[in-house]
Amino acid sequence: MAESYKIATFASHTALQILKGARDEGFGTVLLCPENRKKFYSSFSLADKTIETESIGELDKIAGQLNKENAIIIPHGSFVAYGSLQKLIETEMLYFGNRKILPWESDRQKEREWLKKAGIMVPRLYDAPEKIDSPVIVKFFGAEGGKGYFLTKNQKDFEQKIKSSKGKAYQLQEYIVGVPIYIHYFHSPLSGETEIMSCDRRWETNVDAIGRIAAKDQIDLSLESSYTVVGNAPLVIRESLLPELLEIGERVVETSKKLVDKKGLFGPFCLEGVLTPKMEFYVFEVSARIVAGTNVYINGTPYTWLKYNKPVSTGRRIAMEIKQAIKENRIEEVLG
Ligand code: AMP
Ligand code: AMP
Repeated sequence: MAESYKIATFASHTALQILKGARDEGFGTVLLCPENRKKFYSSFSLADKTIETESIGELDKIAGQLNKENAIIIPHGSFVAYGSLQKLIETEMLYFGNRKILPWESDRQKEREWLKKAGIMVPRLYDAPEKIDSPVIVKFFGAEGGKGYFLTKNQKDFEQKIKSSKGKAYQLQEYIVGVPIYIHYFHSPLSGETEIMSCDRRWETNVDAIGRIAAKDQIDLSLESSYTVVGNAPLVIRESLLPELLEIGERVVETSKKLVDKKGLFGPFCLEGVLTPKMEFYVFEVSARIVAGTNVYINGTPYTWLKYNKPVSTGRRIAMEIKQAIKENRIEEVLG
């Protein structure tokens, strides 16, 4: 049954758990892999076939080969970060997820419109540097994991700090003080159910390092905050917050159906935000695909353990959905 389709992805980000999940559900696996990573990835023996691919930007050239193999591509963060959005949308391939949602998640204005329509709190935006009157985080466009972001407090300070990033599109966003939390969801187009899979927190350099240095030294050393992600750690949030967070995820899915088509957002997705002392969750980003924080739970997440009674990672949950779709003759419903 699963033999008629294979599962394919690109060697980085969450590829290991995607391949492992596919294997666990009985699928053959294909890995698109740059030459210099072959040794590393082959040491896990998770790919039945490896196709040498220098960059995910070459996806359009390999698509024909993947189609012949009946391989379903599972997109992850590197697809958006290093590939071309246009190619990703236009290339003819079996793609798990709805590509129509990609323009909404990759454009910060549209993403914000989506969240607001879903009735979710978002940080205030400043449309010009001269209007900055509170702590602001300056964010660049694209999934670059916080690279280059900086904090600022007024126009003069902003003009100074933006010099090294001239020409790049940015957004001026109110800086929310609280605990940053990344919530991993999965929406099943087959059952119509949204699940909370897990949560993580990130380690970002150097904001997560500055607290190790006394305030006086931070000033003496003229340290500036930066937000380049280096890894993730598990986090379980108060159980009493889970029902509301699930509802927020459901609203994001429901709203997406009005924005694109009735399939809307499905598969794994993540809401990234900050929980404030008033227990308000401000969302600053949606990722419409598997996020790297799920790597913390390759051997299963707290909630999938409760629900499925076996170790289900997000990678495996994807494979389970595809398997069910094949079984029920509904494969079109998980492709987009
Ligand atoms: P990579 O293949 O590691 O370069 O990652 C692809 C994209 O995903 C980049 O934009 C990264 O910033 C982002 N990313 C990678 N690893 C993580 C992580 N552990 N947590 C959050 N984002 C990540
Ligand atoms: P993003 O690229 O939107 O995922 O943001 C990268 C990092 O910047 C996040 O992981 C947070 O640590 C931080 N961050 C982003 N937006 C805000 C915000 N509005 N308030 C506080 N921290 C933020």
